[in-house]
Order: sequence, then structure tokens, then C-alpha cells
Amino acid sequence: MKLIAPSYYPAFSCIADQCRHSCCIGWEIDIDDKTAQCYRTFSGKIGDRMRTNIDFSADPPHFILQGAEERCPFLNERGLCDIILTCGEDALCQICTDHPRFRNFFSDRTEIGLGLCCEAAAALVLGWEAAVTMIDLSDNGENTEPTEEEQTFFALRDSLIAVLQNREQPLDVRIDKMLSVVGGVRFDDMRPWAEFLSGLEILDAVWTAALETVGDEMEVLPGHTGEQLMVYLLMRHLPKMLDGEDPATLASFAVLGYDLICALYASSPEHDFVSLCELVRLFSSEIEYSEENLYAVFDEIASSCP
Ligand code: SF4
Repeated sequence: MKLIAPSYYPAFSCIADQCRHSCCIGWEIDIDDKTAQCYRTFSGKIGDRMRTNIDFSADPPHFILQGAEERCPFLNERGLCDIILTCGEDALCQICTDHPRFRNFFSDRTEIGLGLCCEAAAALVLGWEAAVTMIDLSDNGENTEPTEEEQTFFALRDSLIAVLQNREQPLDVRIDKMLSVVGGVRFDDMRPWAEFLSGLEILDAVWTAALETVGDEMEVLPGHTGEQLMVYLLMRHLPKMLDGEDPATLASFAVLGYDLICALYASSPEHDFVSLCELVRLFSSEIEYSEENLYAVFDEIASSCP
């Protein structure tokens, strides 16, 4: 069984106290059983803090967020994690260890990627110059074969990504070609979509404010950022076709994400890499990281597909 990741993956590291949108603020973090058991009996002052600041009666247990900002009780005033500082990274629960990583599971491999809701991941992925490839991180020697369905999926995804990475053509041409392969749909006006997304569950009012600025203009994203965004969205979401989602809808979602970012970037007061990453981070947090919102968008796309 192999562990496979996009080529930028090994270059990731959390920027901790430099992070402006820490994943330790505003998210209720569930603690896996094994770690909860360990935290319940931890000794010393940190153990006392664990017993006071974790809701063990909840299923699953979770950290009790603090104040209006909803900070993790172990995020100190310097923006660092007291559990890591006191007990080391190995003491983290599974979600804290994993974030912002996500995984897709197949018969012969697990694919691991970096979610764009993390600003450090967004900067790494969008700023990656070379065309992304998949690299082997490890192989436990267990030989399993992909199913026929998975082989079809891999072949389709490889062919769509190859179209997107053909840098001899403008990205818009590549995107239209990619969509024509799967019979997807591309929306030429982002304003109705901005209105639709505003009606979904919202985490941060900044997202609503950004959606309100969407007009009829689109701005081509600089360098290879648009290609990297498209490739990321396909790598992450196209595997859902193995769970029964329509590949045309999933590819259309990737294009919708790209086009929406182009529209948001066009109406943004700032036009630099940092503000682009921030728009992508917002999109990812609000849509990709809310299953409810994500599937509402899929349904809306599906209802518009021919
Ligand atoms: S969002 Fe990313 S960079 Fe920020 S604290 Fe979390 S993992 Fe680190």
C-alpha cells in the first residue's frame, strides 16, 4: 500500500505564531478516543488543564473553546500550542496532527494532500511553479491492486490534469477542453453564484462581504496560480466520483471555484499574491470544509448540467 502526495507536499510546514487565521481559533476540535484517554489521565499541571478545558462528556470529546474569538484553550498568547510546548507533537490528537492534511483512500494507495483552508498551504500550493506531479512518500510493501472502477478514475483524472497542465495553451482554453472531456458546465456570470453562496452557512462575515463585491468582471490569475488551483480542486474532489458523484459535476465544481476566485480577485481592492491566497483560503474554509455547503453547491451545479 502506497502513500502518495502532490509534489509540493514535503515542502509544507505550519507557520504557527505567524499564522493570521490559525486553525486553533474558531473550530471545534474533536479528540480521538486514544488521545482523549491519554489526556484524561495526564499528570502535572498540563494534565489538570486538560481535565478542565476538555469536554469529556461530549461524544467525541472536544476542546472547550474560549472567549468571543473561540480560541483553543491550549493556544497561548504567543500563538503557540501549550500541548506541543509541554508534551511534544506526539501528544497531539489526530485532527491537530493531521490538519491541514486530507486523505483520499483507494485499494492500492492513500493519497494525502494539503487543504487550502490553511494559509501556509494556500501560499505553498498556489506559489508552486512546476507542474504538479504525484510522488510516492512511502510504501509498506503490501501489494494490492486498484479496482477496475479506480483504474478508470485514475485514467480519467490523469487525462484531465494533463489537459490542464498543457502550458502551451492559455489556461481558459485548457479549462474548456478539460470540461468538454467530461461534459461539464461552465457558468459565465458569477453574480448568481455569489448570491447562492451567500445563502449557505457562513463561518466568517468577511466571506459574505467578499461575495457582495462580485461583479461581471473576471481577472486572469497571475503566473501558474490558476492552474495549481484547478489541479488541486480536481485532485481533491474528483475521487468523489467513486462514491457515486457525477464526474461532470465534480469537474464543473473545480471550474466554478476557479471562476469565482477570478471574479473575487477582479473586485478585490488588493491585487497581489497574499490577497489571492486569502480569497482562496476563504473559499476553501467556507465551501470545501463544510460538507453541507459543498454538497449544496454540487446539487446546484447538477441541476444546471445538461
Ligand atoms: S492554519 Fe495552517 S499555518 Fe495556521 S496554525 Fe493551522 S496548520 Fe499552521
